Amino acid sequence: MNTTRLVQDLKKFKLSGMANNFEMRLSEALTHGMGVSEFMQLLMQDELTSREENRHRRLFEKARLPAMKSITEFDFSFQPSISKNRIIELSTCAWIDKHENVIFVGQPGTGKTHLALALAGKALRQDKTVLFTSASEMANRLLSGVADNTHDQKKKQYLTPDLLVIDELGYKTMSPAVAVDFFEIIRSRHERKSTMITSNKEVSAWSEILVDKTLTSALLDCLMQYAHLFHVKGESYRIEHRISLNQQPAPLV
Ligand code: ADP
Ligand code: MG
Repeated sequence: MNTTRLVQDLKKFKLSGMANNFEMRLSEALTHGMGVSEFMQLLMQDELTSREENRHRRLFEKARLPAMKSITEFDFSFQPSISKNRIIELSTCAWIDKHENVIFVGQPGTGKTHLALALAGKALRQDKTVLFTSASEMANRLLSGVADNTHDQKKKQYLTPDLLVIDELGYKTMSPAVAVDFFEIIRSRHERKSTMITSNKEVSAWSEILVDKTLTSALLDCLMQYAHLFHVKGESYRIEHRISLNQQPAPLV
């Protein structure tokens, strides 16, 4: 039986999960004397599995996580200021369903980005949409949007994900326009979506980043109403364990 045409037609109908498994399922069916309905059921299951995997892969790609980190590889004994139980509780992602926020504040190398990535990974595994960015990348994108007339479109990208992760807030002072954008993004996400922020600066010093005190206080009003705040204290894990800053990130998924 020439199945080439059939497989081509399945692909035309965008049933690649069926197409890719057709030969294998056919040979299984012939070997085991499988009925037509059982054969069809298996092929349809292949299609569903393949669609699920593709959707999952797209979610991970769109999230733009720079690396995969896990909670199990986080050494809580090195970082006693972080309660393992609180992090385990957050890993259920109930806080995302309730549109709450998470903030990690602490010195460089203390594991803020690690925990943010690990929690973002948990959210993706629960089919949440995630976008990971650094504060400076976000500022550059918004500014480039002003230059090429795509500002609104670029800003919208930060409004829609179930979880927006803004890493490394505080290394640079924001320009007035970016500070307003940042405030509007947080305000628009308030009670609708979750935001996770990592910063080397205490929340009380964020007016140094946004410059404008009134804007900062309005931003904190939105952000802190439903926020899980972590003060990550202690030594830099990076220095203690001599982790190279140029270390290759772990492969995605
Ligand atoms: P920060 O964002 O606070 O500057 P990172 O999360 O980037 O720090 O941590 C620096 C490096 O050290 C990363 O490779 C991270 O995986 C690792 N790291 C930090 N803290 C821990 C920890 N407590 N257990 C295991 N690895 C850690
Ligand atoms: Mg970091």
